[in-house]
Amino acid sequence: MAKSEKTNKHTSTNMASYIEPAPIGDKENPFESMMSRFNKAAEILGLDQETYEVLKNPDKQVIVSLPITMDNGKKKVFTGYRVIHSKILGPGKGGIRYDMDVTLDEVKALAAWMTWKCAVVDIPYGGAKGGIVCNPRAMSIGELERLTRAYTSALVDIFGPDQDIPAPDMGTGPREMAWLMDEYSKAQGKTVNAVVTGKPLVLGGSLGRVEATGRGVMATALKAMEKLKLNPSRATCAIQGFGNVGSNAGVLLEDRGLRVCAISDQTGGYWNDRGLDLQDAIDYRNKNGGLLEGYPNADKITNEELLTAKVDVLVPAAKEDVITQHNADKIQARLIVEGANGPTNAKADEIIHGKGITVIPDILANAGGVTVSYFEWVQNRIGYRWGLDRVNRRTDRVLTEAFDKVYETAVKYNVSMRLAAYIVAIGKVAETYKFRGGY
Ligand code: NAD
Repeated sequence: MAKSEKTNKHTSTNMASYIEPAPIGDKENPFESMMSRFNKAAEILGLDQETYEVLKNPDKQVIVSLPITMDNGKKKVFTGYRVIHSKILGPGKGGIRYDMDVTLDEVKALAAWMTWKCAVVDIPYGGAKGGIVCNPRAMSIGELERLTRAYTSALVDIFGPDQDIPAPDMGTGPREMAWLMDEYSKAQGKTVNAVVTGKPLVLGGSLGRVEATGRGVMATALKAMEKLKLNPSRATCAIQGFGNVGSNAGVLLEDRGLRVCAISDQTGGYWNDRGLDLQDAIDYRNKNGGLLEGYPNADKITNEELLTAKVDVLVPAAKEDVITQHNADKIQARLIVEGANGPTNAKADEIIHGKGITVIPDILANAGGVTVSYFEWVQNRIGYRWGLDRVNRRTDRVLTEAFDKVYETAVKYNVSMRLAAYIVAIGKVAETYKFRGGY
């Protein structure tokens, strides 16, 4: 989503004076959280020790220091990461996150999740992820551009259409991808638009990419509701995170008849029994740079209240570790659709499963984004643009097939949808590894 210039207004030259909102999560080591699910799936699959070690350890971990001239003329050094977890299925693929909470462990976990995600939806990519420790909301557009270009330049040998293809994630959007493409292209001496996905349309972005992740959330939510015999036009929904994924998923779910009663972002949240008007809330967010305070016709709600609100469908679409062993027991939704990556920590899995709540796991629910990213890359490589209908039709087909495969696996092994998704993904990567072999 293109962020409005307002959200990037330079709020302070003194970064320390920017007050970070209180964290919503109960941070578990994200890599360990990913590994505990991986271990369970590996056990069910009877994965041999050699393959287990190969799939557990990331292929490559890069840390870069990026000295940037800030608008006040002073240099500030930022830390950036890029982790390629696996290239067994194809080139590395994964977003770049701008956030103060970015750590190497988080990027490692997110990179591994990308490997499993691409495998679940059966697209020929491995997994990667990147991030820069920064607060994009406290930086000017010029500072963000210099930071993005410096990051690209530092990783110019890592990125490439056949090597590692970045995309947007939290805190980044088409604008950052355009800078990245331009900087990479300059280094190659030619335009290479397939090096990155989630670009603006004029630079070779795909129709449907901006709303793709939200569309996948909507499509998998509807499939699950069908299985649960939940009628969309009678169902209520709460969405945490009102950025690209949350707001697009919200509009699409509203479109299919659901009543979205609660929304929130890092700056505030609202509740309305009768359902919120999401396009109106998006306009309010764009105008004010966040949900903040003062949105009319709704009551204020905290992020914690939203997670445990009485709704049928809960869509965590902000960040990881927001559903934990401390609040899982209070969740009232019947269905959780994970728009964010890793919103549920491993300790909460059992509690949620025990309560009979169905979870569409992140690696399936938010895979619409990487699916259309793949379509964008395909279009760039054949030098042709598909119409929106074709993109949406193919995305829906990919997600429906992936949902059915995960559902059948869950029934076959009598496990949760999350474990089933890991079984499908790890099984595929392990089988491919067997054919490719190693040293
Ligand atoms: P975004 O930056 O567009 O939006 C993030 C939203 O989460 C914002 O509304 C922000 O205010 C909110 N948020 C952040 N911290 C919060 C907090 N502490 N409390 C409450 N709200 C908070 O990012 P996005 O692209 O929508 O990504 C959201 C999640 O979805 C991330 O976990 C990301 O990894 C995942 N994801 C994104 C895509 C994609 O295509 N954009 C694809 C797959 C997964």
